[in-house]
Amino acid sequence: MNSPLDRFLPISSIAYFTMEIALRPEMHTYSGGLGVLAGDTARSAADLNLPEVFVTLVSRQGYLRQEIDAAGRQVDQPAPWNPEEWCEQLNAMVAVTIEGRRVWIRPWLYRCTSPLGHVVPVILLDTDIDANDPMDRPITDRLYGGDSRYRLKQEAVLGIGGTRMLQALGFSIQIYHMNEGHAAFLTLELLRRFPRRSNRREAGGRAYDASPVLSRCLFTTHTPVEAGHDRFPYPLVQEVVGDLIELEELRIYAGVDDCNMTRLALNLSGYVNGVAVRHAETTQQMFPGYRVAAITNGVHAARWAYPAIARLFDKHIPHWAHEPELLFHADYLPDADITAAKREAKDHLVRLTEEMTGVKLDPELPIFSFARRMTGYKRPGLLLSDPERLKAIARKYPFQVVWAGKSHPADSAGKAVIEAINQATKALSAEIPMVYLQNYDTRIAEVLVAGADVWLNTPKPPQEASGTSGMKAALNGTLNLSTLDGWWVEAWIEDVTGWSIGNDGFAETEADHATDLYDKLEQKVLPLYAKDRDRWTWMTKQSISKIAAYFNTQRMMRRYTSEAYLR
Ligand SMILES: *Cc1c(COP(=O)(O)O)cnc(C)c1O
Repeated sequence: MNSPLDRFLPISSIAYFTMEIALRPEMHTYSGGLGVLAGDTARSAADLNLPEVFVTLVSRQGYLRQEIDAAGRQVDQPAPWNPEEWCEQLNAMVAVTIEGRRVWIRPWLYRCTSPLGHVVPVILLDTDIDANDPMDRPITDRLYGGDSRYRLKQEAVLGIGGTRMLQALGFSIQIYHMNEGHAAFLTLELLRRFPRRSNRREAGGRAYDASPVLSRCLFTTHTPVEAGHDRFPYPLVQEVVGDLIELEELRIYAGVDDCNMTRLALNLSGYVNGVAVRHAETTQQMFPGYRVAAITNGVHAARWAYPAIARLFDKHIPHWAHEPELLFHADYLPDADITAAKREAKDHLVRLTEEMTGVKLDPELPIFSFARRMTGYKRPGLLLSDPERLKAIARKYPFQVVWAGKSHPADSAGKAVIEAINQATKALSAEIPMVYLQNYDTRIAEVLVAGADVWLNTPKPPQEASGTSGMKAALNGTLNLSTLDGWWVEAWIEDVTGWSIGNDGFAETEADHATDLYDKLEQKVLPLYAKDRDRWTWMTKQSISKIAAYFNTQRMMRRYTSEAYLR
């Protein structure tokens, strides 16, 4: 009686499982784009009053607080947060057997509330309780931390524990949505609910009936990079989770050689999608024989519109927050108003960079930003690959650059790029003002996506599944300059919504992309900013009207609802 869940239990029939989710900056339950997407998904689910419940780990020690030391290197620090400040504890416990021990899990509730008053519940799973063996208490501490055994334990807690938790709390779930393969063990937990009627396994046959699982599960895959797919050796799986189902049967679903979480999710989901059209095609080629639909990602418009931009939308485009499709009107915004709102955001960015680094950027000159996870395929160093050419361009058309982004603690190549960027920042500072903002998070992103003039992205096609930060930039009238990969393939209209780097093909080398990047800067982007500010403002409005009206999570969730949840 009077459980905080009472109002949700009768209606919530869709469960969304995610290893990370960005709900608010003080809750360190996310690392990057995947988590930000999950958070925006929850917000839109609340806006649209969808009967959805979200499940994640509490990640008490967070992902990583990044410090940049005097030599320009990333130093990894923990990023603890206190669930009691933002969540309420629920009265339930479930257990999962891990390494033969009973591991108890308790739930926290976070209410994700829409400005319209609708709420979706987020359940955060926590193993840090007295009843557990001290070695099991930290299982839900560090997001993407530790070795593969630790990761496997976390995935057991998320997939198996999460499914049991929903049942213990009284939810009756019809649809299980896996945001990436981390939660794929939930398929096995469901499978166990459907033993074959004969109750006797024929030789080489299956003890469980997969068809009810297929009709309940859907899987959204997020990376075409092979290393992004979790694989665990079967002996480790057996040690950690035991015989959830017999190994022989598990191999049918998760792969012959090792337990591949992507395969497991693919084989036991009745609906599979990639997160952009290009990504769905790439996934289809990686996994022939599966049907891979495409639902392109979006961003939550009201969450990512900078306050001055949001005020402008409120004034000219009523109801835009609930129906971002209406932002198609943005190409009629008065030039003076959009220019003033952009300037307010840019002044904010100039203040923020000065506070964080002591460097004062000039708001009269264009600011480029490169901010995202610092990892190999995103090629953060592309802009710096020919410093002499870059300097020559800056002598003709001065510009400035703001960098930000973390590397995973184990990504030594990514860390080396951070160090190289910081060294270049120092070496070029007399000619090109550049700063590196440490500890990139959603709070910094909010200012960067609106305050910059150009949002630079240089992933190596076809490795960027979607990308979403460029959508946030476009929503705020910041122009995209990007290789043609992920979402940008769909949004790019040259000289209208932004600019491409390279052509729409995979034959180009990194050197081709670098040359084209410099050519675009020198021949198009910088001259336009310097000489034709009216046309620049026109593009700003095209970017908002053509991109933000479509690449938002409202549209995305309507599509998940009609094409995947109600399939
Ligand atoms: C939006 C966002 C991302 C995703 O950036 P991509 O460029 O799409 O990879 C990562 N981190 C933070 C903090 C974000 O806000």
